[in-house]
Amino acid sequence: MTEVTLQHIRAARDRIAGKVEQTVTALSLGLSEHLGEPVYLKLEHRQTTGSFKLRGASNAIATLSPEEKSRGVVAASTGNHGRALAHAAKLEGLRAVICMSRLVPENKLDAIRRLGAEIRIVGNSQDDAQQEVERLVGEAGLVMLPPFDHPDVVAGQGTLGLEIIEQVSDAATVLVPLSGGGLASGVAAAVKGVSPRTKVIGVSMTRGAAMKASLDAGRPVLVEELPTLADSLGGGIGLDNRLTFAMCRDLLDDVILLSEDEIAAGIRHAYEQEREIVEGAGSVGIAALVTDKVRAKGPVVLILSGRNIDMTLHRRIVCGETPSTVERVA
Ligand SMILES: *Cc1c(COP(=O)(O)O)cnc(C)c1O
Repeated sequence: MTEVTLQHIRAARDRIAGKVEQTVTALSLGLSEHLGEPVYLKLEHRQTTGSFKLRGASNAIATLSPEEKSRGVVAASTGNHGRALAHAAKLEGLRAVICMSRLVPENKLDAIRRLGAEIRIVGNSQDDAQQEVERLVGEAGLVMLPPFDHPDVVAGQGTLGLEIIEQVSDAATVLVPLSGGGLASGVAAAVKGVSPRTKVIGVSMTRGAAMKASLDAGRPVLVEELPTLADSLGGGIGLDNRLTFAMCRDLLDDVILLSEDEIAAGIRHAYEQEREIVEGAGSVGIAALVTDKVRAKGPVVLILSGRNIDMTLHRRIVCGETPSTVERVA
């Protein structure tokens, strides 16, 4: 297994400097008062394209050989990875093809098309879209860049961890949104590489927490995908997971799970108290603190990982609803 180390992450930072924003870490007075310890928010939802995924995508693209760059990149994603890859490829003048199923709503499709990517619409599921990716790799020679299980993607996400431990050098606990584990693996490797005693805790939703189920089973397992407000945390970790399962197993101190009501409370708190528009996946750290799901030692740093939420849905949540059936987006 190729573990991603501090050295890889530092190299990634040099490679993507000037292509991604270095985001601010801000003290939250309200959350600090609630916890009785200093709580800082890493405002990564303000990253270009609205999520941290640009770090991994930019690093993975920058690492390609000139010959690979001339062939272009491909991925199956309707969400933040698709946006990030489209933007990073455009900056480098590369062809990017994003595959998605017929069920993807027009607004998501447009967001990625506007960033300059070619869109392929195939079939009725994420699996069909993934098959089209494999076809394009085989027939057109495109290079597949997956959303998390890839060393250059993990190293890119790790640059977020480096910024955190430089901005809050005495951080005792870092709370990280967790899905496929690219973010958590990279951040934990960076933070613990610099500050071995800092705890790193993953936060997922109860509905379809694939990494948590896999860690409990001791190997990657399948879980049923369910609609959730934290839609960017949906999806499996891959039964043939090469990297992020082992890194999360070895580096995370704990994983906690949140209900839909708790995630809604996080989105609401982010908006009303912190004055930030954050998507469900990006609000799980705040949600864990405001609902007392975690008794973290301070100083605590929370990552607000993204802000790409449908604004009609956001309005309903801040008005007090917890919509129970949200269309699932990968
Ligand atoms: C992808 C994503 C995550 C989870 O990242 P993984 O590397 O899959 O664990 C969390 N928050 C947002 C906003 C994301 O887009």
